[in-house]
Amino acid sequence: MALQLYNTLTRAKEVFVPVDAAHVRIYCCGPTVYSYAHIGNGRTFTAFDLLARVMKHLYPKVTYARNITDVDDKIMDRAKALGQSIETVTETTTAQFHADMDALNLLRPDVEPRATGHIDAMIAMIGRLIASGHAYAAEGHVLFNVPSMPDYGRLSRRSVDEMIAGARVEVAPYKQSPADFILWKPSADDQPGWDSPWGRGRPGWHIECSAMTAAHLGPVFDVHGGGLDLIFPHHENEIAQSRCAHGTQVMANYWVHAGFLTMSGDKMSKSLGNIFTVAELLDEVPGEALRLALLAAHYRQPLDFSKDGLRQAKATLDRWYGVLRAAQGETGEVPAAKVPDEVLAALEDDLNTPLAFSLLHELANRFHKETEAAARQAVAADFKAAAGLMGLLTQDPEAWFRWVPKGAQGLDEAAIAAAIQARKDARAAKNFAEADRIRKELLEQGVVLEDGPQGTTWKRT
Ligand code: AMP
Ligand code: ZN
Repeated sequence: MALQLYNTLTRAKEVFVPVDAAHVRIYCCGPTVYSYAHIGNGRTFTAFDLLARVMKHLYPKVTYARNITDVDDKIMDRAKALGQSIETVTETTTAQFHADMDALNLLRPDVEPRATGHIDAMIAMIGRLIASGHAYAAEGHVLFNVPSMPDYGRLSRRSVDEMIAGARVEVAPYKQSPADFILWKPSADDQPGWDSPWGRGRPGWHIECSAMTAAHLGPVFDVHGGGLDLIFPHHENEIAQSRCAHGTQVMANYWVHAGFLTMSGDKMSKSLGNIFTVAELLDEVPGEALRLALLAAHYRQPLDFSKDGLRQAKATLDRWYGVLRAAQGETGEVPAAKVPDEVLAALEDDLNTPLAFSLLHELANRFHKETEAAARQAVAADFKAAAGLMGLLTQDPEAWFRWVPKGAQGLDEAAIAAAIQARKDARAAKNFAEADRIRKELLEQGVVLEDGPQGTTWKRT
């Protein structure tokens, strides 16, 4: 089966045909670094991480770029509110973002361009747009001339009139048409700014991604995406800028958008205030449980988040890590294997994670039912390879079972090892009452012992 992706540009699921099969290039709009990532952001970035992993499985070379938006008015406002410099806000937020995404087991993107590192490229691109009549300077601003592009609105399928009528498009005296949007704007002395032919100023948000994609992926590349809310105006405007600056028919061939993570039906957003940050949930569950919960629904469907869903994801991973632990206990390391065809086919079908997870459940059940040692090991190997492609079950099962929530009073590992040894000594001396007492005492402190052929292992409840 070939990879198929739902393309927002055509509103259809299509077979993925790369521009260059020897080098696939994909881009996901990254975070604006002014405060903690919430799990709605986490959902979109996890979906793209999965896409990048599947692409890397299928193609010899993939460049996955995800930018850092480190020039934005929200960052300026945040720095002012905190009494910190812009650099402090962007650096601490970027570091926190990396820590959160690492905990969700996201691969670091191959390139992670920062907007502030591409200002010259933005100025050059704006210059080209002015020269070709697609942009104009007015009162220190530069605006994209929307009527200059006949098929503007193709991605979002809105006419210019609709956009103006329904839009939050700002009406300003320097605009020739209300739909025109900002490429460059003037900065006051206390605002971040760069010298340009139009005076000291800073870029608009959309031109940042147009310049960064061109710099790292070229004028036409394979996949571009982000959350659903970026279709209009952000992606529509990126397309307008990039196509008009480079004279191309498309900017990216496939536009992929992740559905919203909601809470009781409302989109999770900082402005509504209904957010859980990735960081705060990581105090309650391991990152991999959060990853599983975020991938549980198909990426284009809405995903209504609940703590209950998170607990279920943790319980599922306890079961799945139990398979690996049992397999390891029988013969040591679970051998590497090829990803089973049906799991790969599910993921190639527009990243059908619900189907892929049901196949993982089946493999886990098959492992438990199988009695023959070599067959059990083969099932475990398939299971681990399938989960690994999705960025799951990648840690040592012992480490998984030793995880404790932040602040929980867990017995430390040395004390547990000592108690296990004392129990072993008691059993060797046929003092089974003492051995049972030790087991019970550990259980009361949240530690379950499991006796297997390789000795006694433990996990926290
Ligand atoms: P921002 O930092 O606000 O630009 O958002 C970063 C990414 O998260 C963008 O791709 C957004 O579309 C995405 N995003 C924001 N809120 C949600 C949500 N509730 N569900 C899914 N994705 C979201
Ligand atoms: Zn973008």
